[in-house]
Amino acid sequence: MSEQPPQRAQSNPPHGAFRPETRAIHDGLRFRGHAGPVVPPIYATSTFLHGNPDGYDYTRSGNPNFTNLEDTLAGLENAAHATVFSSGVAAITAVTSSLKLGDLVLAEENIYGCTFRLFSQVFEKFGVRVIYMDFSDRDNYKKIELLEPELVWLESPTNPMLKIIDIEAVSRSAHKVGASVLVDNTFCSGFVQQPLSLGADLSLSSTTKYVNGHSDCLGGVVVTNDDSWGEKMVFAQKALGLNPSPFDAWLIARGVKTLAPRMHRHQKNALLLARHLEERSGVRWVRYPFLRSHPQHDLARRQMSGGSGIVTADLGLDLASTQRFLANLTLFTFAESLGGVESLICHPATMTHASVPRAIKERLGISDGVVRFSVGTEHVEDLIADIEYALEGAYHEQPDCLTALAP
Ligand SMILES: *Cc1c(COP(=O)(O)O)cnc(C)c1O
Repeated sequence: MSEQPPQRAQSNPPHGAFRPETRAIHDGLRFRGHAGPVVPPIYATSTFLHGNPDGYDYTRSGNPNFTNLEDTLAGLENAAHATVFSSGVAAITAVTSSLKLGDLVLAEENIYGCTFRLFSQVFEKFGVRVIYMDFSDRDNYKKIELLEPELVWLESPTNPMLKIIDIEAVSRSAHKVGASVLVDNTFCSGFVQQPLSLGADLSLSSTTKYVNGHSDCLGGVVVTNDDSWGEKMVFAQKALGLNPSPFDAWLIARGVKTLAPRMHRHQKNALLLARHLEERSGVRWVRYPFLRSHPQHDLARRQMSGGSGIVTADLGLDLASTQRFLANLTLFTFAESLGGVESLICHPATMTHASVPRAIKERLGISDGVVRFSVGTEHVEDLIADIEYALEGAYHEQPDCLTALAP
């Protein structure tokens, strides 16, 4: 054997000077074994030799595949700490479980449905209080200082209306009263939006979505620069059993390497598709943060590097015609979730918001004709043709719907 290969820099973040496209590929290589594999192996082990130099003891509290992924996800958001979990909901559980009886969470009223369910059906039972408000309304910022919450819970853009929240301004108000600010960054990923650099204390993502990008496993992450929050996340990972499997962590580490080129493509496709729909007769409205018609277009441009890949539109159809439209699609799979290379479509009125009373749905703008596209990385002309074909069928098969064609 000749001389040892040179050691790589091991600190975290290891390659701080590199750009996200480079770091997504090179940051997660701390543990790649001794035989020199280019890609780190899967450490499929529940336990480790006691006293090993890397400090691992049992996979619930750490595994080299977690560390590799955590290095990458911390690097992407230029953060000091990242902790990975078995799902986005596990990451939400980790954060919320660090609160105590009587603590107040001020949450955006349009947060992800399963976050709402977790708050209302689990944590409120243990005495965590949650008050919901519209964080796109600046008049509400006063309430942060008045109510002195422990935690402010944001999501931007929101689902499915893609409302944008001013993370910097909310963080400023929250910090005046010592509250921490969390942003659920799932719809963007750290490549499109960096909540910590906008002043938030915690950036949470379901890595199931864009970060992994291939719709083949679940995962979650919390990144922070706050040492105390970092410790709480490590504690929650092991104490609550919220760890991912080494295989899933490996899959997500594999997926994240192509996050940058995927996001570029998602954004390009989504913008073209949104513009197409905006021009199309019959379509009532189209919401996409990087469309000029978006009510918070300027704010979106300030805090996001691109519009991400989600487009919501009201096709101006009744329920039966919308269902026919969904059935007529070939390339868009009618399914929950988002952020994969394959295009998906969901119908908020009967899926995510099925249990929301009609009056509230109407106030939120979620009528029967509203659909949410997760625009994939296919050729955009094929995606548009698929939608056109399905729309033609939906508009024409039912005479009642001809009214939808009126301007
Ligand atoms: C999917 C999603 C979650 C939950 O993530 P899972 O990995 O499905 O548990 C949380 N927040 C948002 C915004 C999501 O879209």
